[in-house]
Amino acid sequence: AKKQAPGGVAFYSEKEAREVLSRWRLTEELERACEQKEFVLFFQPRVDLFNRRISSFEALLRWRHPQKGIISPGKFISVLEDTGLITKVGRWVVKESALFLKKLLPKHSEISISFNVSMKQFQDNHLLKVLEETLREVSIPPEWLEVEITESLFFEAGAQASEILKNINNLGLKIAIDDFGTGYSSFAYLKKIPAESLKIDYSFVKGIPEDREDASVVMAIVAMARNLGKKIVAEGVERREQLAFLMGLGVDEVQGYYFARPMPGDQALSFLESFNPD
Ligand code: C2E
Ligand code: CA
Ligand code: CA
Ligand code: CA
Repeated sequence: AKKQAPGGVAFYSEKEAREVLSRWRLTEELERACEQKEFVLFFQPRVDLFNRRISSFEALLRWRHPQKGIISPGKFISVLEDTGLITKVGRWVVKESALFLKKLLPKHSEISISFNVSMKQFQDNHLLKVLEETLREVSIPPEWLEVEITESLFFEAGAQASEILKNINNLGLKIAIDDFGTGYSSFAYLKKIPAESLKIDYSFVKGIPEDREDASVVMAIVAMARNLGKKIVAEGVERREQLAFLMGLGVDEVQGYYFARPMPGDQALSFLESFNPD
């Protein structure tokens, strides 16, 4: 958890001091990582349960640390956000995603690529500018790019948010609501967002079908999403029983270790070719 010194004079416990120091070190390392281009994107497939084909890949950020190897975003995203480095890395994520789509296009014209964004990228219309720039530089059909936006991000961005989402949508990109169920969405606001799909958060998928509460939450989300005409995606599917339950509910797409872990681009491409044979 993030620790913040109380306003004014800061007293650090030994543990807090260690945390602050390690964050400093991490910040320095991340600045270097940006310069040295140590970031890579991994791609995880999303499987369409109706035609049993891969319909898209989610781009997930990784840090290829020269000594420590591959590091997951949970370890460093918050530092990128706090230091503002996220705008630079975020722009790179958008471009790399677009380039991967471009690479797939000649042979696989109906696969989309989704990517994640942070609140910070919403400021000063930064994301919108990056998207426009990317579409100019990498000529691709925009409808095969999808932005994943968390519910909480939407709330933090306030009134600005729906305007930005509308603009993204006008550019032709698709929008997915990520981590669905963990935020504060109401029916009313969901109706207003031009989102095409809802991603049911991993935390609810985890316990199905055995856990009664998880099962009812998932059923309620599916019913609501269907009512709103949204495509329903379940994330974090690891077991056959989870898959069977989700199929029974008519969930459209699933993503999770059951099918594949996130993997480097070239591996994702060969996975796709063996999964969606022509
Ligand atoms: P997310 O968008 O909810 O992504 C799903 C996370 O669940 C990924 O973690 C993925 O590797 C993991 N996952 C997928 N299938 C399974 C499964 O079956 N079981 C389990 N236990 N986990 C599964 P990852 O890659 O570590 O990313 C964590 C979070 O970091 C993401 O959560 C997203 O919020 C953020 N993130 C990742 N890439 C980016 C990025 O480029 N930009 C920004 N702003 N955030 C990113
Ligand atoms: Ca996501
Ligand atoms: Ca999630
Ligand atoms: Ca998340």
